[in-house]
Amino acid sequence: MKYLGCRDIGIFCDFEARAEQPEELVPQVMEHTSQSHGLEFVETEMSYEIHTWARNKMGKD
Ligand SMILES: [Zn+2]
Repeated sequence: MKYLGCRDIGIFCDFEARAEQPEELVPQVMEHTSQSHGLEFVETEMSYEIHTWARNKMGKD
C-alpha cells in the first residue's frame, strides 16, 4: 500500500490518498487538490512529483 498526502507535495493539509501503486494515487490527489484547494495540476507534473516522492520514500524504507 502506498500513501500520498498533501503534505508530501507541499500542501498543509491532512488529506492522504492510499493505493497499491504510486500511479493510482495521481487521480485521487488531483481530484482532492482540485476540489479542496482549487489547484489544477497538470497530470504529467503531478506524476513527476509522485514518482519523485515514491522513489525517495521507498529508498528510505
Ligand atoms: Zn489537501
